[in-house]
Amino acid sequence: MKSLVYQGPGNIAWEERARPEIQDVGDAIVRMLKTTICGTDLHILRGDVPTCTPGRTLGHEGVGVIEEVGSAVTTFQVGDHVLISCISSCGKCEYCRRRMYSHCVTGGWILGNTIDGTQAEFVRTPHAETSLYPVPCGANEEAMVMLSDILPTGFECGVLSGKVEPGSTVAIVGCGPIGLAALLTAQLYSPAMIIAIDLDKHRLDIANQFGATHALDSTEDDISAHVLMLTDGKGVDTAIEAVGVPATFLLCQNIVASGGIVANIGVHGQVVELHLERLWSKNISITTGLVDTYSTPMLLKTVGAKTIDATRLVTHRFKANEILDAYDTFGRAADTGALKVIIEF
Ligand code: ZN
Ligand code: ZN
Repeated sequence: MKSLVYQGPGNIAWEERARPEIQDVGDAIVRMLKTTICGTDLHILRGDVPTCTPGRTLGHEGVGVIEEVGSAVTTFQVGDHVLISCISSCGKCEYCRRRMYSHCVTGGWILGNTIDGTQAEFVRTPHAETSLYPVPCGANEEAMVMLSDILPTGFECGVLSGKVEPGSTVAIVGCGPIGLAALLTAQLYSPAMIIAIDLDKHRLDIANQFGATHALDSTEDDISAHVLMLTDGKGVDTAIEAVGVPATFLLCQNIVASGGIVANIGVHGQVVELHLERLWSKNISITTGLVDTYSTPMLLKTVGAKTIDATRLVTHRFKANEILDAYDTFGRAADTGALKVIIEF
């Protein structure tokens, strides 16, 4: 089968690999129909993710059809149309019982990281019963692909951790796919104000189209003052950090209101400053975490009911044998305007 293989920093190849086989009674083998590329895949390519070693097939998102199941899998059958979660979970370990599936002791984010992933014609999915979801009849497959990672991540790590409420004020710092996923799902809670902040004009236009009440260019002189001005000097109740660099985390600290929450989604590779000399008395909280995907069943229903149109995140489509072009397009998002790219098998 063909597979997108990480060859070490800066290098990937679309090459022939052996088809995966069942290794554990809880496994399933899924024939991929559609997958996508995540910002995290670009982090791997930059050499930022040491757990992902050369030779690994990348990818942790997608939909497919079950080709084979292990002997312990009873809730899925060969031929079932399934959504693959970016998080594999056993459902039984201490962390899974606490709904922290990203910390599953035999799962978590393993696909396309510590085991071969979904950017291939076939993938082995461990803990199939608790890590796959049936694709509802008639569901839009491209929308389903957004449910593997990006929508639950924006929703859980941004909106739910940030406790967005009716009438509250929200700032989303970074309007890439994850920030936009937070923007789409924040509206489920009817906040009074959603301020989108980015340095890319195109992404700010999209944020406006997606429902931001204000779109601010972060290259302007005093962006913090602008946010304070919009919020009567208070700042925002929820500041969602969706970039992962020191400057954006600092901006969140500058604009969070007393009693507010800085909800971090960004993947940070550098030390950041925490200004407790200003924040110690402000009753703020800071939340961190990888997506646990506990919201996936609920999001499946909201996407199915078209309360959220997840297909709006898809900007480009490629055939599987064009996957290197897809990486190039996704990697040069500032030039290409790419949000999520769909790769079809
Ligand atoms: Zn991802
Ligand atoms: Zn577990």
